[in-house]
Amino acid sequence: MSANLQTPIDYLKGVGPNRADLLRSELGIHTYQDLINLFPNRYIDRTKYYKINELQRNNAEVQVTGVITGFREVAQKRGKRLVANFKDEAGMMELVWFRGQKWIRESLKLNKTYVVFGKTNWFNGKFSMPHPEIELQSEHEKNLRSALQAIYPSTEKLSNKGISNRVVTKIMQQLFLETKGRFAETLPISLMEELKLISKSEALFNIHFPKTPELLSRAQFRLKFEELFYIQLQLILKNLIHKSKIKGFPFNKVGNYFNTFYNEYLPFNLTNAQKRVLKEIRSDLGSNAQMNRLLQGDVGSGKTIVAFMSMLMGLDNGFQCCLMAPTEILSVQHYNGLIELCKHLNISISILTGSSKTSERKIIHENLENGKLQILIGTHALLEDKVKFKNLGLAIIDEQHRFGVAQRSKLWHKNTSPPHVLVMTATPIPRTLAMSVYGDLDISVIDELPAGRKPIKTVHRYDNNRLKVFKFMKDEIAKGRQIYIVYPLIQESEKMDYKDLMDGYESVSREFPMPEYQISIVHGKMKAADKEYEMQRFAKGETNIMVATTVIEVGVNVPNASVMIIESAERFGLSQLHQLRGRVGRGAEQSYCILMTSHKLSQESKTRLETMVRSSDGFEIAEVDLKLRGPGDIMGTQQSGVLNLRIADIIKDKDILQQARYYAKSILKIDPRLSLPEHKVVLNTYRQMSKYRNIWNYIS
Ligand code: ADP
Ligand code: MG
Repeated sequence: MSANLQTPIDYLKGVGPNRADLLRSELGIHTYQDLINLFPNRYIDRTKYYKINELQRNNAEVQVTGVITGFREVAQKRGKRLVANFKDEAGMMELVWFRGQKWIRESLKLNKTYVVFGKTNWFNGKFSMPHPEIELQSEHEKNLRSALQAIYPSTEKLSNKGISNRVVTKIMQQLFLETKGRFAETLPISLMEELKLISKSEALFNIHFPKTPELLSRAQFRLKFEELFYIQLQLILKNLIHKSKIKGFPFNKVGNYFNTFYNEYLPFNLTNAQKRVLKEIRSDLGSNAQMNRLLQGDVGSGKTIVAFMSMLMGLDNGFQCCLMAPTEILSVQHYNGLIELCKHLNISISILTGSSKTSERKIIHENLENGKLQILIGTHALLEDKVKFKNLGLAIIDEQHRFGVAQRSKLWHKNTSPPHVLVMTATPIPRTLAMSVYGDLDISVIDELPAGRKPIKTVHRYDNNRLKVFKFMKDEIAKGRQIYIVYPLIQESEKMDYKDLMDGYESVSREFPMPEYQISIVHGKMKAADKEYEMQRFAKGETNIMVATTVIEVGVNVPNASVMIIESAERFGLSQLHQLRGRVGRGAEQSYCILMTSHKLSQESKTRLETMVRSSDGFEIAEVDLKLRGPGDIMGTQQSGVLNLRIADIIKDKDILQQARYYAKSILKIDPRLSLPEHKVVLNTYRQMSKYRNIWNYIS
């Protein structure tokens, strides 16, 4: 009988209580199953030996054979270290131990041939290898199971406590012994045949003890595929269950509000992308299922009008709608924009934010509950329990990345059965990532900017070119344009940033004195009302320059502003730079974005700046961003669990992801309940995973 993989790791031979505790706390390994899923980070060719004179000063792991010719102890500040001279026919190096010296002294013999393995340091004209793995050559050859040796993830604590890679490898061997290396298959036969996948047992063996490079890569493919397949399966299932279980409110008709607006008051022609997306939304809203849609569209692509027209569909069917934005400034802007759009339509619309007065709130609460209020715009304030709707039919969230999943779900409960939800984001998420992060949402994309937009000219300037930049600003102001100057604001150094902002403001004020020039300033320390006042002055064209921190990052719309100057641009991330640049280029005039930096730039900052200068395509920029930072930092992934992939890599394994999604979809299409005999294995595996693996925490 093979061992139960849910057996606690303590029961594995060679793992005592101490090691079990460490494995649990350091690597999250609780069971046999967890251990078998501890996949190596990389592999090292243990048939390759270096000569000492071939070593490079690159701190890489190497394997050398030689003999110890002598030991000495060297006193140092804390304790002492043991040093062995280690020699092969080509040269000499040192082996160094800071701990366990007595034991080392007693067990290692002079003038016997050893194989040592570890990282080398270059110090005082010599190579040294601290705490090498060391073995008699005769033993080494006996134990060598596979040329490619797995290197496992580790932590400092683990290696300090003597759980070296060799120990982990030994434990892993023991696990294969106890289980006889037999593991239940987890993918359907048909799929394995079609994709020529190796079996689960073979894959697991070869991922830990590769027999050949070819088998290793087949093992990797099989396991990556499996991992991505089950994630996709889960996301798609969730979406399907959702659609069948959760009844939406069908918006059956397109009525007066929509038609009147569309035929008489539409301020411009919609782009084809806007039309397509509206159709997609319309078809969701008209179906019996609840809409759960993500609308992606680059900055300035015109998401607001789409949101507005979707709300009109809600109103036409007698429902209330709400639009939630992440900041007060944005909410106010949406509110003003929507008031303008519906001024001929006789719609009742209000705004609710943190700074709404109690008396206003009272009226809003009342009119929401009695149904007089049709559209409510606002910030997080909308989520408060006190805010109750009579019949909320559609909830729209702007700039999703500022909100968490929890907040999305809070909106759901604003009605007896959940309203339709439209989430809008201007942070284009590469399709591959969107599939994993938002795989449970349907996705619409506006991939076209309104006609007549001139591409923004983007340049990179060093701080010592500032005078020229000032001159350029004056010319633009003389032409009637307005200018943003943005300073970074990063939490940890808020004080310093604030000082930078104020210094900057002062020097700009000196260069652009009143009354000839008017300058606004907006930053996080100001009261909401003051911010709003300054924003309005700028929006109305009463001031020429807006000096600000990133509060203006999302959504703010002042078409006459045509120059964006970003100070210390090297300190901003790519998506933030792109968002900021999107504040200009909204009017008919040629717009500019000037990225100011010092001369000291890291390689990564350079790549970011070059990307900005070269490209204005949000999706392309997002791809670069993803490559630079990895998915961990990209908005929205934090809560998604995507980070916890065990073997696949969202960026590098994009093709496998696509394949996995395709197959997950096709299986669910013919067998949505996974009830066919050939899919039993999928159902069982899926259930097991949801039961035991906490990486599936985003099932919530
Ligand atoms: P975002 O997608 O960044 O939220 P907005 O909805 O704020 O973009 O739209 C940006 C600007 O483009 C607004 O001034 C809006 O009125 C305008 N706009 C939107 N759609 C069109 C269109 N089809 N034709 C012309 N201008 C448009
Ligand atoms: Mg917007």
